[in-house]
Amino acid sequence: MICKICNNEFEATYKTAGHVCKPCHIELVKKNTKLKKLALEAIQNIKYAEIDGCHVVKTRYIKRKVLGANLYVHRLIARFVKGLNIRGKVVCHSCDNPQCINPDHLFVGSYKDNSKDAAKKGHIRKWVLRDNIADIRKRLKAGETIASIAAEYGVYDTAVWKIKHGVSYANIS
Ligand SMILES: [Zn+2]
Ligand SMILES: [Zn+2]
Repeated sequence: MICKICNNEFEATYKTAGHVCKPCHIELVKKNTKLKKLALEAIQNIKYAEIDGCHVVKTRYIKRKVLGANLYVHRLIARFVKGLNIRGKVVCHSCDNPQCINPDHLFVGSYKDNSKDAAKKGHIRKWVLRDNIADIRKRLKAGETIASIAAEYGVYDTAVWKIKHGVSYANIS
């Protein structure tokens, strides 16, 4: 078997998930342990507002620097707090709010699901047009999902989420 990291041949008696030789695997485990420690440190002081169960941070998809790399906080939480295997996968929000970092609202999906969703949305805007706010409220009241409303009005899920929870446009009826 050829090691994926050092390209040297090795006996496959040492079983690793990623087809790497024993010395490379030991290095990898060390690096991951360090990464986990630094990642947990990097995310522990992030401030968020608790709104209807969501942990809402200032901007969508915030990042933190860990071992020199700028990494998405929601992915770090899914991986190191929840222990999910996120490799090659997207981390989605069950609450449809990309500004939320509540571990309970994160789950793993495939890029295919995500790009299908993105393609459906086409060109998206950050904000809802004022003229649409009343209609969106009606549809939310009727039980329509945030994702489907956002797709229809060509806006980010967050924009609709903010209307639902009275964070934005609360003064507009
Ligand atoms: Zn190796
Ligand atoms: Zn949430």
